[in-house]
Amino acid sequence: MTILTLIEHEQGIIDPQTLSMLTAARGLAQEQDLPLHAVLIGANVSGLAAELGEYGVTAVHMIEQDALADFAPNAWAACVVEVMGAEKPTAVIGAGTERSNEVMAHVGARTDLPFAANCLTIQPEDDAWFVKRVRWGGTLHEEARLYGDPKLLTIAALGIEPEPSSSGAPEIISVTPNLSDADLLVRVVSRIEPERKGISLTDAPVVVSGGRGVGSAEGFVILEELAGLLEGAVGCSRVVTNNGWRPHAEQIGQTGTRVAPELYIACGISGASQHMSGCSGAKHILTINSDSEAAILAKSDTAVIGDLHEIIPAVIAEIRKKTA
Ligand SMILES: Cc1cc2nc3c(=O)[nH]c(=O)nc-3n(C[C@H](O)[C@H](O)[C@H](O)COP(=O)(O)OP(=O)(O)OC[C@H]3O[C@@H](n4cnc5c(N)ncnc54)[C@H](O)[C@@H]3O)c2cc1C
Repeated sequence: MTILTLIEHEQGIIDPQTLSMLTAARGLAQEQDLPLHAVLIGANVSGLAAELGEYGVTAVHMIEQDALADFAPNAWAACVVEVMGAEKPTAVIGAGTERSNEVMAHVGARTDLPFAANCLTIQPEDDAWFVKRVRWGGTLHEEARLYGDPKLLTIAALGIEPEPSSSGAPEIISVTPNLSDADLLVRVVSRIEPERKGISLTDAPVVVSGGRGVGSAEGFVILEELAGLLEGAVGCSRVVTNNGWRPHAEQIGQTGTRVAPELYIACGISGASQHMSGCSGAKHILTINSDSEAAILAKSDTAVIGDLHEIIPAVIAEIRKKTA
């Protein structure tokens, strides 16, 4: 019996949310007195195994094929199912990312097992496991019991700091899966990198985000200036992308990007649940809004009530004075 984990990686780097998931899965494995195993899929990925050992993985089921050089959800699911057949794990756990959720949903479909996505807490009980999980883009927390053997889960990793442990090098178990052409029909075949100015939205320690209250595409010039001074990035609400003021890549929320910066500055944003699900992981939320009754105030640590077109230039002038 083992706890089996799914490893996500991109261009030679293990996804940080996978490291957060491994930290949580290691705790679960220790509680259950089970070894922590990992499924690592790709081409030339053996170099990543040592890092997995640092996170408590004792055995890596390594699947290396040229055809798997990039992400292929159906093929990844076939590989996981193959390892499940050999290892008979107690649970199979991935990170609560789009990719791992997709793979685990395929695993559920292939094995006819139930799957609980985006779990915040996991409490093993005799038959069913009691889980709390995020639904509806973070606007609802659901308590549920997960049946099935093994348990299929993903962990909502935002907020869990990746913590290495002191384990040694893991055992490497080579697996040659039986993949069909159909398994490889859906896969990444090329990438088009968006033109990127400055720091990326998900890495930025400060996000200066604008909503309808900004009023126009030109209105974002002062938000860009503030973001530049704070070494941050610009985000926006869906109204803004719908109006064509900013690209969709900058949209924060349920149908956009999720961010967890140190500071989220919401300018002229009302605080709809679909927006807040994208920024509720922020350590501090500072709101600038002309409406003292705006819903976002209840979700903010600090609020300035007033016209953003007056407040932001005043803040910029103050920062420039202090840094001159
Ligand atoms: C399925 C679904 C998915 C969605 N996904 C997303 C998503 O991913 N992200 C997202 O953002 N939305 C999403 N939405 C839309 C969401 O419901 C809201 O409509 C949207 O977030 C509102 O954007 P807003 O806050 O910019 O605009 P509004 O709600 O119109 O708020 C504008 C705010 O600006 C303030 N304001 C106006 N002028 C000024 C000024 N001069 N100075 C200061 N404040 C001012 C107003 O007081 C108001 O609070 C989704 C909706 C659905 C149904």
